[in-house]
Amino acid sequence: MEAIADLEGGEGAWLYPTGVAAISAVLMALLRPGDHFLLVDTIFAATRTFCDEVLDSFGASYDLFPSGVTDLTPYLRENTKLVFVESPGSQTFEVMDLPALCENAHTHGLTVVADNTYGSGWLYQPLALGCDVSIIAGTKYLGGHADVMMGAASARGRRRPKCVPLPS
Ligand SMILES: *Cc1c(COP(=O)(O)O)cnc(C)c1O
Repeated sequence: MEAIADLEGGEGAWLYPTGVAAISAVLMALLRPGDHFLLVDTIFAATRTFCDEVLDSFGASYDLFPSGVTDLTPYLRENTKLVFVESPGSQTFEVMDLPALCENAHTHGLTVVADNTYGSGWLYQPLALGCDVSIIAGTKYLGGHADVMMGAASARGRRRPKCVPLPS
């Protein structure tokens, strides 16, 4: 947990059994029924499936926005709470302008969550670029040999984990 937080530049981290478990736990922790959120259109397919099949039935809905966008104003609704990004993005590997996007999102009071599976924390740190939460599917690069399943969520600033330290 500490090693991942360190790699991601987080103030703390949580571990999960898979990447999708980390993504679902973060979204369910930060969204409530009636909330609206934004997903980048290069999003990992299983993230979108979770939003369509689980979050939708709990009353949280989303809209997609293109990867190149840095001004979210046209996509916002009164109840928009969060923006979920992925950079580099799944399949297309498009790299987003996260500093500009995060600055814009924060002026609208949104929490920015990044899927950093492709950046891995070694090559790319969304938290340093302004994101509030960064998620890694450790199943991929971190495991490296297709023999490990893991997910991790690191956070800093106003979304830093409020966890009780484990007894040593
Ligand atoms: C594989 C992957 C996930 C999901 O990880 P699992 O451990 O398979 O649940 C999430 N995001 C991205 C970008 C991925 O490539």
